[in-house]
Amino acid sequence: MDKKDMECYTVYCIQNDPLWVKGRFYRMETLQLKAYAKINLGLDVVRRREDGYHEVRMIMQTVKLFDKLTFRLLEEREIRIKTNLGFLPVDKNNLVYKAVKLLQDTYGIEKGMEIDLFKCIPVAAGMAGGSTDCAAALVGASRLFGLDLNKKELMELGVKLGADVPYCVLRGTALSEGIGEVLTPLPPIPDCHILIAKPAVSVSTKFVYEHLDAEGIKAHPDIDGMIAAIKEGSLRGITDRMENVLETVTIPKYPVIAEIKSCMKKQGALNALMSGSGPTVFGIFEREEDAYTAKRLIQERKLANQVYVVLPFNQKTNR
Ligand code: ATP
Repeated sequence: MDKKDMECYTVYCIQNDPLWVKGRFYRMETLQLKAYAKINLGLDVVRRREDGYHEVRMIMQTVKLFDKLTFRLLEEREIRIKTNLGFLPVDKNNLVYKAVKLLQDTYGIEKGMEIDLFKCIPVAAGMAGGSTDCAAALVGASRLFGLDLNKKELMELGVKLGADVPYCVLRGTALSEGIGEVLTPLPPIPDCHILIAKPAVSVSTKFVYEHLDAEGIKAHPDIDGMIAAIKEGSLRGITDRMENVLETVTIPKYPVIAEIKSCMKKQGALNALMSGSGPTVFGIFEREEDAYTAKRLIQERKLANQVYVVLPFNQKTNR
């Protein structure tokens, strides 16, 4: 990771790295990083492969809604995770654990890591919360273990842990193909306000893909048109093409998703869509006040329990 990339991940370093004080070199031993969520501006399923995986074409967008991970280097070869969400696994089933373990095993690291995971990104919600924590853990552990792997190396390791992990290392606006691991960076989308609303239901990605009739999809989203609109910098060109084929499975099961979409659109969203396999809905607004009005209404009507107005993450400025 180069310095510019690293800076945008970092919330603070308790000790700067590398730090020269009075002619002595101190290693940084604690680091805090932001792990950003994603939305899918467009999601198409091209086909179901023989091995059961689905080939997708997705327009990914990082948003400034994030978990915070604090890493502390341990002298002993242990991995300890603490989190603010009691129901999350803190053992080998947590993707953060898997990321640190992968680095230990791949590079023969004898040290360990303690990670404080403060979650804000809705869980099992279609926002790649686990994958982005995993990506941040690769970045943080690589740094604290003194490996200093570059983005490409981190992405190659990440794909072993999940198809969305390489994208979470890359971040920004991108086309994602294959099973999600073939990435083409795109220019940043125009400025806008994004309202995120997660209803109080959890959706299993596996369930949604298993119930999708991939071969029966009649109308495919215009992903190429959206790419052209992104290149032209046309926000309306992008929002006019927002479509997600997974809505056909998730919305009939959870009609509240359609209610949230309609509420956002009535309040001035250029468009609103379910993210990933759901149930999170996002709306794109030109006017910040409209996004906040929609947020208030969604909360008053108790349509969603986690509601945030955020900005897109712009990879050009790393802000
Ligand atoms: P995606 O958009 O990639 O489908 P998601 O938002 O649907 O992801 P996650 O929030 O990543 O789903 O969580 C899915 C499951 O992964 C959870 O039920 C949880 O038990 C497990 N998990 C493991 N590690 C984490 C983590 N660090 N954060 C959240 N969930 C995790």
